[in-house]
Amino acid sequence: MEETRARPGWKQVPMPSAVAGLPRDGRGYPVGWATLWEPRDSPGRSSVIRSPEEGAVLWCYCVTGTGTPLLGQVCPRRQRTAMARRRCQLCGTAIDRDMKVLFIAGRSEGKAAQLVPEPPLHAACAAYAARVCPRLVVGDRAGALHVTEASSYELFEERVRPSGPDPEADMLREVFPLGSRSALRFGALENLLASPAGTWVPFAAWFAGLPPSGSSGSPF
Ligand SMILES: [Zn+2]
Ligand SMILES: [Zn+2]
Repeated sequence: MEETRARPGWKQVPMPSAVAGLPRDGRGYPVGWATLWEPRDSPGRSSVIRSPEEGAVLWCYCVTGTGTPLLGQVCPRRQRTAMARRRCQLCGTAIDRDMKVLFIAGRSEGKAAQLVPEPPLHAACAAYAARVCPRLVVGDRAGALHVTEASSYELFEERVRPSGPDPEADMLREVFPLGSRSALRFGALENLLASPAGTWVPFAAWFAGLPPSGSSGSPF
């Protein structure tokens, strides 16, 4: 796996207080609440379980603080919780209804009306991650980043089902409206995808418009 690289001087960037309480990796990076943890010895990290409301669900058994954090990779279980409950993927706390949620999209997402797999962020947490290292949040998908701030977002289900012997490579995936009946028949729920009601701007333009680091205006 490629190394997540810090921006120079990242330790001087003031940390939002909710971020300061997160576990750290070997370099002192805060490990985002939604980050996937690689368990120390158990080989099986996830399995498909049955839920009365959601049908088949891809369940993840990783435990925060146990094993190795895989920065930039998101736990599917916490991914869904963050999306469904409007929780910040970095600090893990709720984003108030009267506050806008910020989404960062990588690669081709963010160019047109599209669905975002990265859970929402507080604006202050996003600004912190952007100053320290955007890959803290988006991992290897940090190709052509775009940002939107939205009051609300609509949710969709990304479901998967095996189509061949290799459970990783031979996976069919399809997107359904939240709660659709055909989704239940298709396969296991992996991610919730967001369609934010906001305008996408290039990451660089959004970053250039941030107030200077350390100024007030943080909700923490
Ligand atoms: Zn997990
Ligand atoms: Zn946050």
